[in-house]
Amino acid sequence: MPSTARIALNRPLRRLFDYLVPEGIPLEPGQRVKIPFGRQQAIGLVVETNIEPPEGITLKPVLKALENWPALPNETFQLLSWASDYYQHPLGECLFTAIPPALRRGRPAIQKNDDRWQACGSSAALPAKAHKQKNLLEWIAQHEQGVKNSEITKAGFTRPQLKALLEKELVRVAAPESASPQSQQYSESIAAPTLSPAQLNAASQLPLPDEGFSASLLYGITGSGKTEVYLHYLKQNLATEDQALVLVPEINLTPQTVARFKRYFGERILVWHSALNDSERLNAWLKIRNGDPIILIGTRSAVLLPFTALKTLIVDEEHDSSYKQGEGFRYSGRDVAVYRAHLNRCPVILGSATPSLESYHNALAGKYRLIKLEERAGEALPPSISLLDIRSRPLEGGLSRPALQALKKTLEDGNQALVFVNRRGYAPVMMCFDCGHMVECPRCDTRLTYHRRDRAMRCHHCDYQAAATDTCPKCKSEAFKPVGQGTEQTEDILAAHFPDTPIVRVDRDSTQRKGSIQTILEQVNTGEPCILVGTQMLAKGHDFPNVTLVVVINADGGLFSVDFRAPEQLIQTLLQVSGRAGRGTKVGKVVVQTCHSDHPLLRTLCNGHYLDMADQLLGEREAGQFPPFRAMAIFRAEADTMEQSLQILDSIKPLTNTPGIEVWGPLPSLIARRADRHRAQLVLNTDNRRRLNKLLTSVCQTLEQKRFQKGAKWMIDVDPQET
Ligand code: ADP
Ligand code: ZN
Ligand code: ZN
Repeated sequence: MPSTARIALNRPLRRLFDYLVPEGIPLEPGQRVKIPFGRQQAIGLVVETNIEPPEGITLKPVLKALENWPALPNETFQLLSWASDYYQHPLGECLFTAIPPALRRGRPAIQKNDDRWQACGSSAALPAKAHKQKNLLEWIAQHEQGVKNSEITKAGFTRPQLKALLEKELVRVAAPESASPQSQQYSESIAAPTLSPAQLNAASQLPLPDEGFSASLLYGITGSGKTEVYLHYLKQNLATEDQALVLVPEINLTPQTVARFKRYFGERILVWHSALNDSERLNAWLKIRNGDPIILIGTRSAVLLPFTALKTLIVDEEHDSSYKQGEGFRYSGRDVAVYRAHLNRCPVILGSATPSLESYHNALAGKYRLIKLEERAGEALPPSISLLDIRSRPLEGGLSRPALQALKKTLEDGNQALVFVNRRGYAPVMMCFDCGHMVECPRCDTRLTYHRRDRAMRCHHCDYQAAATDTCPKCKSEAFKPVGQGTEQTEDILAAHFPDTPIVRVDRDSTQRKGSIQTILEQVNTGEPCILVGTQMLAKGHDFPNVTLVVVINADGGLFSVDFRAPEQLIQTLLQVSGRAGRGTKVGKVVVQTCHSDHPLLRTLCNGHYLDMADQLLGEREAGQFPPFRAMAIFRAEADTMEQSLQILDSIKPLTNTPGIEVWGPLPSLIARRADRHRAQLVLNTDNRRRLNKLLTSVCQTLEQKRFQKGAKWMIDVDPQET
């Protein structure tokens, strides 16, 4: 019998394709192949070999194997197959997530030429007529560090011109950056700092890389020096030939973390995030696949990469919701990391000052080892948190009089302050006080946010944007005013109150340009008095030693939400923002403005003990039969009308009829219309995860065969973050 193979394509199809394997092409799972597909050719990944092909079908042959080694080694392949089954996402798309774009397109798996060219001769050696070559050579000579091919073409020169210079030996490849004296200092790594007794105690409880699988939850309060614990742990325990993975929520927000790792590990550090270009991505991928002993600092998708010598996984800020992918292959980077450690028989360390209820629950159940680090590092003390009831207080830009006074005092003492506002823009609503009209997004069920800096009304849920008006668009009244607070407004009020102090706004708008967050952080790190105003972005792991006061404009958003995760997220954000205060030698103070100062959750917040709040929240989750006590999955539908969406889900509902699985809905989603798509959901809730998984597999198979109206779509979301 001729040899056969089953192949996955990078398409949203829940099926694989069978091919003949010509003699002389030995194939194994995970290998990249070129195949005929319809009238075209496609790149596929081998899933299985020597399969029994269905009868009566003539198979086409594989055209070639792109490498004689699997792009996805066994462990990575198993991980992705598991994830495909767990998250109910088509195998092909899951497998291809671990393949860099260049290789998805069929490029060879070799280091992309990222050479930099340097001048090594004078243009006098060129014939007088060779103007272009002369210009190019002079231009290259101006760049001491050398220039890349891409830069040469961008500057208007051509490859043949460069080649001509190369043939005349007037240019040469610059020495790779790693060998240049500037980065040499990195390879000479410095010793990690001496850990405090509390840090040492925590570090000593972490299982070693060769002790097999274990999951540890490192609960370390903000400023307790978790990063130093990771560094110390890796330095002490990671063998020189091993690989490690450190997952972080968003690299560009915390450049300090990468810098710290580089200081200790030099060139062993590799980064992986969405801003890498295709050749950077390919080069990093090759090192990982090749088993180079790197320590990879990466965002979510790094957990899927083809490591071959992975011996430790660390998930920093493990509670962060950005670990869950919100579309397509909806995996949780944190949860996949735990499974990967299990497959790999190595430790995984989940770290946070505000652990997710899922992880904390696992720790309480004895599945994860709970390691506590409840002292701040160095001389710093935990900040004191107090509630400020603003029910009958006049507010300016959302700030009460006592809050403004506290800010004034902080600046007078030569310190820095941080004001947390949960909305960007100037105001979340523009309202007419004559006719009551509020400006809404024409494409979504949401209101438009007023952005005063560029006089625009913007939808934060789709790309819609319109010019702002001075009068009510409906009745032309001039009593047309902003309602509620956004960062721009608070920035303006603070600038008016403190004209001599720099006010630094940090939100998605102010940090859009590449590198702008670095500039902002540098300004803050000069330590000069200033006020930072910003959104959640400020809650993410920053270390601002001179910030001694944090003001939270309004804490009430998540207290009464219908989303069962809202209170957890509120408390996490509040504690993380609070944690920016008093990280240096000066004591920090946090003022939380609220209209519900008697709310039990906020009262517990003042004690600052996250685990007490987590206990309280877990109690509520258990009573309400929510995760982590139950497993949850959501079928989502979107279509051009709500009727169609509900119809799809109505047709799914009877398929889910299984004892022990509760089904809620279908109901319109929280924001029912988004970018003119009408969205609805059907929630499945059970205490039997295995049964749920089996049910989902069979329902998805059935749905795959069905045809729905054009533009109508269904999706499955396992362990949903948004409900
Ligand atoms: P976390 O991530 O737990 O919030 P970090 O790791 O950012 O805390 O550490 C907080 C601050 O404490 C940093 O400025 C860090 O350099 C400092 N730090 C950490 N460990 C020590 C130590 N053992 N001695 C002195 N300073 C430390
Ligand atoms: Zn009006
Ligand atoms: Zn919109």
